[in-house]
Amino acid sequence: MKVGGEVYALDSTSGSFSYLLAGDHRLLIDTSMPGRYAKIIAELATLGVAPDSLNGIVLTHHDIDHMGNAQALKTASGAPLWASAEDRPYIQGQRHRPGIKRVVEMLMKATPTHVDHVFSDVPLGDLVAIATPGHTPGHTVFLYDDILFAGDLVIERHGRLLPSPGIMTSDRLALRASLKAVGRLEFTWVCPAHGVPVRRGSLWDAWT
Ligand SMILES: [Zn+2]
Repeated sequence: MKVGGEVYALDSTSGSFSYLLAGDHRLLIDTSMPGRYAKIIAELATLGVAPDSLNGIVLTHHDIDHMGNAQALKTASGAPLWASAEDRPYIQGQRHRPGIKRVVEMLMKATPTHVDHVFSDVPLGDLVAIATPGHTPGHTVFLYDDILFAGDLVIERHGRLLPSPGIMTSDRLALRASLKAVGRLEFTWVCPAHGVPVRRGSLWDAWT
């Protein structure tokens, strides 16, 4: 699904979207649930994107349904992986996820994956990384032109945006502060992992 310009929501990752930025600097934002690797590669091919033309893979946070194919895609592409310093130990398998996420971790196994760069150290071309702690300690969203790649900061349901569910939130106060802070930024489109891309309109106003 084309979102606009050179931005695609990969249909093969519906349910936990991975987004492709297909400009000069080709980036994959999140890698969806485990087991979707072959379908992702096939869809990239239909868009004319060979795996080894990817310049980087970027994770919004450590959850299994976002890092599920990170290792396989890294291997196929040779591209480096970016994530936040706070979420890095979970992605690399050095720390167990807390609460209900521990159960998810046991049920939906994802291969621990080495994080090559953290956002604060190496810039990401046209993407601007913005720390939005709450859903996870190191949750990060990305601005590109007038598009916000929201990860799990918000979910879309029936054309509305909702904060990520409380049961999956590691710090609710931090989440609220992150929603407010992002609300002060300018963007037109919101691309969440769960749900579909929507125009911002007044959907963010409740939190600002
Ligand atoms: Zn998620």
